[in-house]
Amino acid sequence: MGKETAFKEYNRELPHKAAPADRVKNYNEFVGLYSDEELNHQSARCMNCGVPFCHAGCPLGNIIPEFNDAVYRKDWEEAYEILSSTNNFPEFTGRICPAPCESSCVLGINKPPVTIEEIEKHIIEIAFERNLVKPAAPLVKTGKKIAVVGSGPAGMAAAAQLSKAGHLVTVYERDDRPGGLLRYGIPDFKLEKWVIDRRIQLMEESDVTFICNTEIGKDITAEELVRNYDAVVLATGSTIPRDLPIEGRSLKGIYYAMDYLVQQNKRLGNSPVEVKDILATGHDVIVIGSGDTGSDCIGTANRQGAKSVKQFGLMFQPPSQRTQHMPWPSYPTILRDTSSHEEGCERVWGISTKAFLGDEQGNLRALKVTDISWELDDFGRRVKFQEIEGSGREIPCTQVFLAMGFSHPQHEGLLQQLGAELDERKNIKAKEGIYRTNVSKVFACGDARRGQSLVVWAISEGRETARKVDEFLMGHSSLESKDAVS
Ligand code: FAD
Repeated sequence: MGKETAFKEYNRELPHKAAPADRVKNYNEFVGLYSDEELNHQSARCMNCGVPFCHAGCPLGNIIPEFNDAVYRKDWEEAYEILSSTNNFPEFTGRICPAPCESSCVLGINKPPVTIEEIEKHIIEIAFERNLVKPAAPLVKTGKKIAVVGSGPAGMAAAAQLSKAGHLVTVYERDDRPGGLLRYGIPDFKLEKWVIDRRIQLMEESDVTFICNTEIGKDITAEELVRNYDAVVLATGSTIPRDLPIEGRSLKGIYYAMDYLVQQNKRLGNSPVEVKDILATGHDVIVIGSGDTGSDCIGTANRQGAKSVKQFGLMFQPPSQRTQHMPWPSYPTILRDTSSHEEGCERVWGISTKAFLGDEQGNLRALKVTDISWELDDFGRRVKFQEIEGSGREIPCTQVFLAMGFSHPQHEGLLQQLGAELDERKNIKAKEGIYRTNVSKVFACGDARRGQSLVVWAISEGRETARKVDEFLMGHSSLESKDAVS
């Protein structure tokens, strides 16, 4: 451990962010980098506590106190080696992870936690700058062929690990470019796409083949795929959006969030946009849904010059104080304010949507809502809600984005052709820790198996699945696992 007293001397500081009024003028990332001294101070704040809860709080099992210490000592090679031993893509998590590690940081009990996510981003960017990040070069080639379906973070992580184990990996992607939601869901202002391209290039140099514009189940049948490969990994994501089937749903101006976000990402990436442009310019926008997807719609609408932006959620306003049995020092991350909220958005809590109202031409003109109140149990959990009498009203709007999450992966095509068993939530059934489906030599990971989740979980599942595939093919595996570090 670097400096024992640092956590008392230095406060948590984040790198400089461009001011909201400036950053909405473009789609660039707007979080800067620490100076050398700032990075040194922030890493020194890690207390190297006896039981590092951060390590368990991270779905990847990142070895955080050790890399913080290496950063403090400016040993970049060691810091990179430690970080990359558990995380294939710190450049993604270091930018967009909600950082459950920081919520688990012991320093966080009394003071703001260590800036683990930022430190992670600095380690990987410094490692790239110093040419420490090299293509994987396995000692042996096994001659086994593996197909990964889907090139999001789960598929990428599975492919990277399987390639490291010496297998020949082909990743199939139905979109025109690899990356999954990293590329066409998450906007550039959170993750610029050169970051993905840089990693894909490295993977290609490690002999991973990416085949885009190819939908398995349509362009290649599931049967053909299984016949031609020694193992198949399904990493197809959770893509079916939740709808809001209330009166007026068919009016013009109501869109799924993903139809909107994908278009903007494609526009910026110079990829063809297939359908009519959806632009928020000049619109009174309402985003329905309080998660990351909703936030990304807000940031995008502000950058496109929306007239006004509101966000509605069924959720209730986070309590300003802990309730008697509330276990968290601060309210869980799902309801946090994001950078998009800083850029301009009226956030409306505890709203139930009743009907979309239109004009004579069939265009959306308002949303009819009522306020609701929640009955909470002693732990602050929502038990049931009721509408507040007399609170019904119309809120003018000309565009609505539905960002209420995703229910499950697409079943038609690939999954139906395979005869893949589904779990009770209609995701692919494959037990966590085992990752095998009911279909011989077919495995599943990421959002398609777990349900909609986080990038860090997708990477974690991709890595763990790769180990299981390797064991299945070779009888043993020397790939790292958070459960069984070799
Ligand atoms: P995906 O990233 O969905 O990738 C699946 C890929 O499979 C897609 O490219 C799809 O085209 C391809 N595919 C599907 N079927 C086929 C087929 N039959 N043949 C070929 N290819 C196929 N998480 C965070 O941690 N932080 C965030 O800030 C964050 N922001 C988000 C913002 C938005 C708008 C959304 C929608 C999600 C966000 N998430 C965020 C969640 C995160 O992106 C996902 O949990 C993660 O990408 C899941 O990874 P995956 O690899 O399982 O699936």
